[in-house]
Amino acid sequence: MTGKEIREAFLSFFEKKGHKRVKSSSLIPSNDPTLLFTNAGMVQFKDYFLGKEKPPFKRATSCQKCMRAGGKHNDLENVGRTGRHHTFFEMLGNFSFGDYFKKEAIEFAWELVTEVFNLPEERLYVSVYEKDDEAFEIWNKHIGLPENRIYRLGEKDNFWAMGDTGPCGPCSEIYYDRGEEFSCGDNCEIGICDCDRFLEIWNLVFMQYERDEKGNLTPLAKPSIDTGMGLERIASVLQNKPSNYETDLIFPIIKWISNTSGIPYGKSEESDISMRVIADHSRAITFLIGDGCLPSNEGRGYVLRRIIRRAARHGKLLGIEKPFLSESVDVVIEIMGDVYSEIVENKDFIKKVILKEEERFSRTLSKGLELLQEIVEKIKKSGEKEIPGEEIFRLYDTYGFPVDLILDVANDERLTADINTFEKLLHEQKERARKAWKGGSQKAISKELLDFSEKNPSAFKGYETLETTTIIT
Ligand code: ATP
Ligand code: MG
Ligand code: MG
Ligand code: MG
Repeated sequence: MTGKEIREAFLSFFEKKGHKRVKSSSLIPSNDPTLLFTNAGMVQFKDYFLGKEKPPFKRATSCQKCMRAGGKHNDLENVGRTGRHHTFFEMLGNFSFGDYFKKEAIEFAWELVTEVFNLPEERLYVSVYEKDDEAFEIWNKHIGLPENRIYRLGEKDNFWAMGDTGPCGPCSEIYYDRGEEFSCGDNCEIGICDCDRFLEIWNLVFMQYERDEKGNLTPLAKPSIDTGMGLERIASVLQNKPSNYETDLIFPIIKWISNTSGIPYGKSEESDISMRVIADHSRAITFLIGDGCLPSNEGRGYVLRRIIRRAARHGKLLGIEKPFLSESVDVVIEIMGDVYSEIVENKDFIKKVILKEEERFSRTLSKGLELLQEIVEKIKKSGEKEIPGEEIFRLYDTYGFPVDLILDVANDERLTADINTFEKLLHEQKERARKAWKGGSQKAISKELLDFSEKNPSAFKGYETLETTTIIT
């Protein structure tokens, strides 16, 4: 099945079960200033779950554009390193707004995976929340899944929440065993390791609570169902590919990068990671800008800027010297344009924004990377394990080199970075600047940009600081 056929099979299966097919909402959540990006299919239905708004239908199905970079669900660091995590991906889902609950949700899911997708039962495993005996019984007694294929897991894996507040509840997940060859070793087991062997394909969330700022759980008036299945993941299973990147939803971008760089995919682990990162990020930036997000120094725009710069850096690592990212938009549109018209309609604008950002960054990058490489070599030679805060500050302050890229490089080189000292120096510098500041005016924004952002508001409140990169020590 092609990616397109899988998407369609899912949606029409649920349509036949009385679900209303609903279009994907924007990656920029319209109803929630506390959420950085739409990170799941349920986001556009949040107020239905909370009982704040009356749904016009009791059942819905959708294929939702999702972004998991920054915020509670952040997969930015996983991209390229696992075969199953993206920043941008499509989430298939079925939803019940106070209509059916656990039993039907599990029945539907089982029917779809075993009878429509024809996955062999002996390769399927499920997990339930450790205290959820009801879900365990449904899987075991009603569906007939043997006990040893049902895992009881704790909150981390089996209690789903959109964010720190909002609708949440216990969940049950379906895993597909890709086989021994994907195993990470003796301890390879669901709930223990986090490798690609037992692939989590579908999460069925039993929406039962609303969590408030203090962490209190209040039962919802009507328990509901929210499910999410990663389209790229199920495609990798159905197309029998080793990772999401080899599916027809992404591989054309990899091929294009390989052609552009002249490096074959599969040449080395390092170049493969770079290609996967670029493929992922091309999709993310095309869709983010297509939904009205623009590069900036804060909030959503900063995440976008960071993703563009990260992709550009990996382009450099592959030896691509000229700006290239804006051209990847054409490949993304070729794969997805017929489903998402917004990227087709905004194509020229998307490419222009990316090219500008790339050119701007390219100047900074060349000089900064050269210096950073010298610093890294020196540290390694001396047997040290940490990039000093003073060096980070110098790169940042004198050359405008982004700190997250320094952290990226540190990560790749298995070094740590003395961020505390950097922050201290930055703070001191800001204090100096604050004292010296005599006022200024805002730079004019081009009319084209202004019109576009008015049509596609990405105004974002309630988000001050971004999480910094996790550094491997
Ligand atoms: P994982 O444990 O693999 O990180 P998750 O438990 O965080 O996944 P959920 O929040 O349960 O994921 O999301 C529902 C489904 O969406 C997952 O079962 C998976 O199929 C898909 N999914 C989640 N995160 C990603 C991602 N970063 N890229 C691609 N698909 C994803
Ligand atoms: Mg996750
Ligand atoms: Mg999980
Ligand atoms: Mg999950």
